[in-house]
Amino acid sequence: MSLDADTIAAVATANGAAGIGVLRVSGAKASAIAQTLLGRAPSPRHAHYTAFRDAAGALIDRGLLLHFPQPHSFTGEDVVELQTHGSPVVLGLLLRRVCELGARPARAGEFSERAFLNGKLDLAQAEAIADLIASQSEAAARAALRSLDGAFSQRVAELLAGLVGLRVHVEAAIDFPEEEIDFLAAPELRERLDAVSDRLSRLLAETRRGVRLTDGLHVVIVGRPNAGKSSLLNALAAQDRAIVTPIPGTTRDILRESIQVDGVVLTLADTAGLRDSADPVEREGIRRARDELERADVALLVTDAGSVADDLRLLGPAQSGQTRLIVRNKIDLAGAAPARAETSDGIVIDLSAKTGDGLDLLRGELKRLAGGGDAAAGAFSARARHVVALEKVAAHLAAAELALAEQRAGELAAEELRDAQHQLGELTGEFTSDDLLGAIFSSFCIGK
Ligand code: GDP
Ligand code: ZN
Repeated sequence: MSLDADTIAAVATANGAAGIGVLRVSGAKASAIAQTLLGRAPSPRHAHYTAFRDAAGALIDRGLLLHFPQPHSFTGEDVVELQTHGSPVVLGLLLRRVCELGARPARAGEFSERAFLNGKLDLAQAEAIADLIASQSEAAARAALRSLDGAFSQRVAELLAGLVGLRVHVEAAIDFPEEEIDFLAAPELRERLDAVSDRLSRLLAETRRGVRLTDGLHVVIVGRPNAGKSSLLNALAAQDRAIVTPIPGTTRDILRESIQVDGVVLTLADTAGLRDSADPVEREGIRRARDELERADVALLVTDAGSVADDLRLLGPAQSGQTRLIVRNKIDLAGAAPARAETSDGIVIDLSAKTGDGLDLLRGELKRLAGGGDAAAGAFSARARHVVALEKVAAHLAAAELALAEQRAGELAAEELRDAQHQLGELTGEFTSDDLLGAIFSSFCIGK
């Protein structure tokens, strides 16, 4: 059943002292290894309490042995799980023993990779395992579980079915050249195309939201020096004491904080003040702030006076796909009340970072943008590569539409639809290069 003859073993629990630890073994020799350790053949899916001994017969620890015969196991191969006290020393001795009996240490992600190769999971589901393990918030964990259950894959499969229907129609037209034009002009084809496009744009929007839930919303705080950017970051971080983890910055002058707002993760980056400057050091800081700005999901502009228009000019044109929030800070100085307004420049929130008045308005906005709260209901986790693949599907579909509408060119449209289908296959791993698989699975932890 396995594509790889090796039997692999790894400690599946986190490295460190713990009540219990789990060592996992998968492959053709797993059953024989279990039998040697237990002194008899194990019963399937039965917890055997036993003494684990080294080659010389010395006791390593006592614990549980479970045998999951193929194909009803996580990897689809024979799997054995050994539970001992959670000591890295004990688990290390047991791993050595298992390797003496014919296993080799597993590479990162190798169990999940085998589960994928044996058809137990598709690629998006395997990625969801890693995302579940790495999840930093309840919303992210729930979303990853939904993807693991196949919520995302199911949506991709529905889209695929629609695409295949389109291809069948277009390719049938090509097979009957005398009637090709009529076939391609049929309203039914138009309807099918629209339905697939609609489905695709909904999926793309939800996938983008899934990425934000999985990775956290990336918010960059920009504005003139002294507008109150750092004060605002501190005020947000202090209010959401749940987790405030400093993230090691890639650049010296950009401070990052990861905070949780009601179960969703936000990464906030405080940047050097934006202004026209001749000082080379300051210009470098501003350049980095602009780089940061290009990658952010949300640009949060902090202004301290009525200079919103001027500051917007400093910010430059809006990035596509980026949301702008404008904070008019220091309302305490003006004796003004907190407020929220929707304007053509973006959502404007009046608040005071100093007194905290109006901060809840901003938090609500950030939470909504992060896809949290009610918006997170039913959400699945996703990765940036999924968005890229779906965007390519959308481009091929648009090209197919154009070929049909403008030139009634069946061959061309069929070609684009084939490419779209291929891209969808990359999501679930149906058509995936070994390089991509290697990159995905090697980012998993050992023992997964
Ligand atoms: P940054 O350069 O944009 O990061 O600005 P800072 O956060 O360092 O704040 C600049 C100055 O404005 C500091 O003296 C802050 O105490 C003050 N400040 C920031 N926010 C407020 C506010 O809401 N009200 C008042 N009165 N002062 C503020
Ligand atoms: Zn600052």
